[in-house]
Amino acid sequence: MKIEKDRVVRFHYAVAEAGKEKLESSRDVGAPLAILFGRGQIIPGLEAAMEGREAGESFSANVSPAEAYGERKDGLTQRIPKKHFGDQKLAPGMQVVLQTNFGPRAVTVEKVGMSVVDVDLNHPMAGKNLEFDIEIIEVREASEEELAHGHVHGEGGHAH
Ligand code: ZN
Repeated sequence: MKIEKDRVVRFHYAVAEAGKEKLESSRDVGAPLAILFGRGQIIPGLEAAMEGREAGESFSANVSPAEAYGERKDGLTQRIPKKHFGDQKLAPGMQVVLQTNFGPRAVTVEKVGMSVVDVDLNHPMAGKNLEFDIEIIEVREASEEELAHGHVHGEGGHAH
């Protein structure tokens, strides 16, 4: 069964900045990622590279910033009260996930003060050419319920 819009895809991925060490991999977490394909749940460049593939296929995809997390923007530094970071030990260059009104957001710590923290709101992978290694584990039809909810249920998906 080929990957197309509104099918469920489970896949493993590893991502690296072009020519550099791996940044993250789903194998580090264990479970493959599960998405409802064609609904913008992954970056556009990856959706384009996955379309039409089948379970068992492994391939690499190079994705430009425009098809990934966009270009880096200047002036996206924001000063945030330290209490929003909980008990984590903070250091410049560290990536943390902040809970915002728009959902969780990955930011990079720039400077740590006594009571405030300066963070760069650019996505940590913004402005980067990314190399993905993808292994398609499963492709299946989505259930009516999954289509209605807009996400995958079961392994790698929502449990509710
Ligand atoms: Zn649901």
